[in-house]
Amino acid sequence: MPLATPRSRPLRFAAFMVAAVLLVAVGVATVWGIRGFARGAEWVEHSYQVIAGIGGVENAVRTVESTARGYRLTDRPEQQAEYLAAVPVALTQAGALESLTRDNPAQLQRAQALRASVEARLAELDALVELQNTQGAEQARLSSMAGIGQGESTRLASLASTMRAAERALLDARRSDTLLRANLLIGFVVLGIVMPLALLGLLLSGLLQETRRSRSLEREARQAMRELEASVVLRDRLSEQRRSLGVYAGLLQSCQNLDEAMAMTANVIAELLPHTGGRCYTLRASQNLAETTARFGAEQIPSEELLQPDHCWALRRGQPHRTGRGHGHVYCRHLSVEPGQSDTWTVCVPLMAQGTSLGLLHVAAPEASEGHDGDVALLEAVGEQLSLAMVNLQLRETLRVQSLRDPLTGLFNRRYLEENLNREIQRCERRGLPLSVLMVDVDHFKRFNDEHGHAAGDALLAKIGQTLEQLTRDEDIACRYGGEEFTVVLPETDGDSARRRAEEIRSAIGATTVNHLRKTLGPNTASIGIATFPNAGDAPSRLLEVADAALYRAKAQGRDRVVSG
Ligand code: GH3
Ligand code: MG
Ligand code: MG
Repeated sequence: MPLATPRSRPLRFAAFMVAAVLLVAVGVATVWGIRGFARGAEWVEHSYQVIAGIGGVENAVRTVESTARGYRLTDRPEQQAEYLAAVPVALTQAGALESLTRDNPAQLQRAQALRASVEARLAELDALVELQNTQGAEQARLSSMAGIGQGESTRLASLASTMRAAERALLDARRSDTLLRANLLIGFVVLGIVMPLALLGLLLSGLLQETRRSRSLEREARQAMRELEASVVLRDRLSEQRRSLGVYAGLLQSCQNLDEAMAMTANVIAELLPHTGGRCYTLRASQNLAETTARFGAEQIPSEELLQPDHCWALRRGQPHRTGRGHGHVYCRHLSVEPGQSDTWTVCVPLMAQGTSLGLLHVAAPEASEGHDGDVALLEAVGEQLSLAMVNLQLRETLRVQSLRDPLTGLFNRRYLEENLNREIQRCERRGLPLSVLMVDVDHFKRFNDEHGHAAGDALLAKIGQTLEQLTRDEDIACRYGGEEFTVVLPETDGDSARRRAEEIRSAIGATTVNHLRKTLGPNTASIGIATFPNAGDAPSRLLEVADAALYRAKAQGRDRVVSG
């Protein structure tokens, strides 16, 4: 019977009550039984007393008979005195037996009959004694031997025997009654103890079961509480991470260059995942190497400063590559993993946009830290934001370059010249240094176009652009002024030096040919006009005008020459 479920509680109470009632009943029955035994014992004792009483009567009568016979045989007065003393004893014994049997009418009747018989017997013996006293002992002996005065003896013996048998029968009945009661009591007591014990055993096992169940429920509740607390902590952490990620994404959009974006990414990862360490890599334009552009945290597994893209599974496959518990231990070749270093998880997140690899995030952390999946998801989100930012920055750079460069020649455009010439003049003015401007125009270029076609003209212009790029220093500004005209700004260069540089340029252009449609075309000569700050003026427009005028003179003087303004 299951006594451990909440529905079994009333049953349990009933079982407890039954057990208690049974125990009380056993107690009552035991008291009642003991009292019954006592009463039975009294009755048995009583029967023994009656039987003893019968024996006592017989013995007393026998004593009277023997003292009477002794008196007959000896005829001595002491013997008669003994006889006279024994007679009342026999009467007393008969009277006592009668009193003992007052509870039982049948036995009382028999006791009365026995007393009457005793009295009759005593009377017979008294008659013999009287005879001896009056007619002598001899006469009395003769009468006795003749059977006179002996009649009642047999009846008395028969009455005593009947009464004894009746009392023995009563004794047997009382004994068997007591035995039956004893057996019944034993049965009842055994049952009355075993049943409550069984019920109490069931109750105890039910209670133990319930205790076990409530303990396990308590454990489950504690576990659930712990999980709830952990999930609240995780939720808070996730919402904090999401908020930080939002801030990070916004800041990324404002980064001016890649280095800034990488440094900020490293800071954000270090803040969000302080238990991790790693690097941000940027793929070089050549795509042959990825170089470390930022680091964060304590590096758990050293990674190469410069890595080949095909040494990283993530860059090879274009998807995050994880190692650690549940993800295997296939490490990238750029990691220096020591044998047996399995207490660390790693992830490489490729930075990709529109199918192009831009870089890599490499992160490692001890296995002991929790929530790897959440960490990796966060790193993937960071990687996605960073990839977008990298593409934007590259695009911005491309647009910036495009807005400042001439697409055909790759030189700076006129806008760049106008924006920077003034700054360069001021810089040289502050330092008391000269600055020269060369205005270069390809001679008879219209004719070249007409002869070889516009595309060939474009090719030659592009080649001249390369030539100018090669002949200028980093601090010089070589630009396409428009059409087939070029301008070269030479900071910190006086008129004479400018003239020498102009001659170099002129002769280089004069030797520049281009292969177009399997034909070698050119070279075309060029004319160059020079204007030098401060002599020619200090305004950019003025300098350009002077240089242009010098160029005009060079054309007028027959082209393929340099003229200073
Ligand atoms: P000059 O020696 O006096 O400078 O003679 P020129 O023919 O070079 O001078 P002109 O100014 O008469 O002609 C310039 C030519 O340059 C006209 C035009 O067809 C050509 N031109 C200008 N821009 C481009 C260009 O982007 N590509 C090509 N192919 N030709 C261009
Ligand atoms: Mg021209
Ligand atoms: Mg020209």
